[in-house]
Amino acid sequence: MIQVPAFPRFARSLTVLAAASLVASCGGGGGDSTPKDVSINFAAIANGAPVQCGGTVTGLGTTGAAASVKDLRFYVSNVALLDIGGNAVPVSLATNGWQSDKVALISLLDATGTACVANANVAVTGTVPQGTYVGLQFEMGVPESVNHTDTVGTAAPLNVAAMAWSWQAGRKFAKIEVDPQARVTKADATTTTTWNFHLGSTGCKADTTNATGYVCTNSNRMPVRLTAFDATTQAVSINLTELFSTSDVTRDTGGAVGCMSGATDADCTGIFSTIKVNFTSGAPLDGGSATQKVFAARTK
Ligand code: CA
Repeated sequence: MIQVPAFPRFARSLTVLAAASLVASCGGGGGDSTPKDVSINFAAIANGAPVQCGGTVTGLGTTGAAASVKDLRFYVSNVALLDIGGNAVPVSLATNGWQSDKVALISLLDATGTACVANANVAVTGTVPQGTYVGLQFEMGVPESVNHTDTVGTAAPLNVAAMAWSWQAGRKFAKIEVDPQARVTKADATTTTTWNFHLGSTGCKADTTNATGYVCTNSNRMPVRLTAFDATTQAVSINLTELFSTSDVTRDTGGAVGCMSGATDADCTGIFSTIKVNFTSGAPLDGGSATQKVFAARTK
């Protein structure tokens, strides 16, 4: 009588297990493992309508000011789609002139040159695993691991000089500037053209024990979570009416004109409350991503 040794039986079981796990790793039991392209569009709105290059936005801020938008650029990172269970599935960013694998620059308006440049870059592009996605989350900010790199010699999109922020050795996460028709009256009663909102990490100082060479007390990154978002039919709107709703853009009470995230600038209190970032600590405020109204889903 021939007996089958125990070892081969065990080996056969391992083979079956290995085959089963291989199937599972290739897409949940037979699904398509080809990454799915995703393009997430952004658009600026005010009073429910698109913001135009050179156009006038009315009803802005606590005084209902009329203003033109001079600059509207911001960095986006940690981009993920939400599946039906609410799980965040990271988007692998494509590498191009506007984004690296870690961060993308959205440029909706740029008037730092001689002419207004509109919609230079409106989309974050990349891939996700095949699946059904119902929402989106991202952060307005530059990841700390690359925030303090030199703009010279650094790959796009961190090589944009206008987004460098020398006073904190990092980047402006957002550069949003408006020119009120009534101008901006400063504390000394003189006037100037532009009310600035520059967001970025503050309290930064050189620290050789940290891998980035710096340490900052206030992160000031704005988390956004849209539980209902369809990238094929919708864009992410940044709502300037909401962003400036608690700011008087015709007045500056001190420090940098407008709010450049300075810890003692009283003009920052309102706008930090609308982006749901705690102005004192730099951490998300009042539920942060779940309660902010600046970014929303909007039909393309
Ligand atoms: Ca100020």
